[in-house]
Amino acid sequence: MKNIKTTWNLGLLYKNEKDPQIEKDLKMIERVCMDFEKKYKKADFTSSAEKLLKALEDREELRKKINGSKPWWYFTLKNNLNADDIFAQSHSTQYSQRLTGAFNKLTFFSIRIAQIVKTDQKKFLMDPILQTYKYSLKRSFEAAKYKLSEGEEQIIDLLSETSYTMWKSGQNKLLSSQVVVYEGKEIPITKAVALYPELPKKERRELYLKISSVLQSIAHFAEAEINAVYNYKKVLDERRGYNKPYSATVIGNENNEKSIELLVDLVTKHFSISQRYYKVHAKLLREKKILSADRNARIGDIHKKFDFLSATTIVRSALGNVDVKYAKIFDSFLENGQIDVYPRKGKRGGAFCWKEGLLPTFVFLNHSDDINSVETLGHEMGHAIHWELSQQTQPPRYRDFSTATAEVASTFFEQVTMSEIEKHLSEDEKIIFLHTKIKSDIMTIFQQVAGFNFELQLHEKIRKEGFVSKENIASLLSKNFRASTGNVMDIQDEDGYFFVRWSHIRNFFYVYTYAYGQLISRALFENWKKDPGYAKKIEQFLSAGRSMSPEDIFKSIGIDTSDPAFFEAGLKGIESDIKRLEIMAKKAGY
Ligand SMILES: [Zn+2]
Repeated sequence: MKNIKTTWNLGLLYKNEKDPQIEKDLKMIERVCMDFEKKYKKADFTSSAEKLLKALEDREELRKKINGSKPWWYFTLKNNLNADDIFAQSHSTQYSQRLTGAFNKLTFFSIRIAQIVKTDQKKFLMDPILQTYKYSLKRSFEAAKYKLSEGEEQIIDLLSETSYTMWKSGQNKLLSSQVVVYEGKEIPITKAVALYPELPKKERRELYLKISSVLQSIAHFAEAEINAVYNYKKVLDERRGYNKPYSATVIGNENNEKSIELLVDLVTKHFSISQRYYKVHAKLLREKKILSADRNARIGDIHKKFDFLSATTIVRSALGNVDVKYAKIFDSFLENGQIDVYPRKGKRGGAFCWKEGLLPTFVFLNHSDDINSVETLGHEMGHAIHWELSQQTQPPRYRDFSTATAEVASTFFEQVTMSEIEKHLSEDEKIIFLHTKIKSDIMTIFQQVAGFNFELQLHEKIRKEGFVSKENIASLLSKNFRASTGNVMDIQDEDGYFFVRWSHIRNFFYVYTYAYGQLISRALFENWKKDPGYAKKIEQFLSAGRSMSPEDIFKSIGIDTSDPAFFEAGLKGIESDIKRLEIMAKKAGY
């Protein structure tokens, strides 16, 4: 590796923000959408399989031309790098409106497909000439049950920007502009959040309290925001006929409601496993009782640093262990400037990976030289590889994927990364490492399910009472955290102000996909460890995109998610890791 770039090269999209190509692309998208409308709006394209096929093929061509709304995407990415970049923000909003206007011309198409009568639906699904479109048709027929009229859908699309997106981005902006004083210097809150678990007890608890009081000081905005977006969702859900607050998400992810309820129930019933973990966690911290500030604390005095260069070495060989082509994808990302590495003031917190159409994939990090940052890199590269493979294999209509499969890909590569990290550790550090690994399982499975329960209760409360105060939101969250951590952790109501910065609860029930993904990826990982030849099956999964339902994709590689025993086995696996840690802790004199 010669030239690693650590900031995004958005030049891969446009020369600069004044590039005349931006306006040309916008005009092109507006034109092709208008042409499509002209051609099909008044035409009959649903009366025979042949006509439908022709129209679907044209729709597919249109997807290729639109190629992921590049002008909007460019300014959105820029805005993520710098919340103060008003030019980027205003252009991202303007273009989003223009593009939505253009795409609104296409809504008639899916509505017409949705209106195909039941008997014809069955006929088309069986017709051999429509086989390559079968799953997408099935999804359209399924989604049709919840669609409103064309005019209503258009208004919703236009108003979601002001009723949802702007609230969320306002909250984000307020949050990312906050600073905390640490060692006499102001540091961005995102940095403080990454830093405090690394510190010794006294400093850790102090910094945690400072973060917490910043969150409380801006909670009045989050209170308005959460109530606004949850009520907005309520209105939509009622109109569309979704029965439960999570129905839209679960159905949208092409998951089955029953299997997700089963998963959430099962994990909630096994909260004793996470409580058992927090007991040994406290023991390893040599404490009888611990506080929220200690929840993510590292044990012992290991502060091994992983600067970005060493992180890339670890992740490259982890990916290469599964398949050398994954390591090559990673290297090309580093060389091309597709990974933005370090935290900066104004830059959004967290990490993500996203792509649009056939545009380059971008990975967003806030690397802070700790083990966690290496795992995050492995996780986000898992998303990136999933995108790349599905993009190379699938036609445009099947190129993206359900969130439910997305988190399986990312957490699988996260586990592979963790076993690579282990090789770089001394024997003494391995106890700490096992602890870290279990902690990650606990956070991913139990904390996210506690989050799911919290979200569900909050949606229900807002639906019933109209508005819930920030104090009550915080205490509701604390209550749910207490249920999963048990008595050993002394959780105060103020700790619930974590809701101010928990971005996922704004993505409505997104959290369950972590638990679901982690339990399935654990199975993938165990299979691959037993038999490296299983990598072929993993590649099959990574290349499947959205061509089948998640349940069917997993079935095709030998994993049955309708079986409660399957999820239960994953939970038992975590429990046996905890037992191992307890024994190691005892031996080491804790
Ligand atoms: Zn992820």
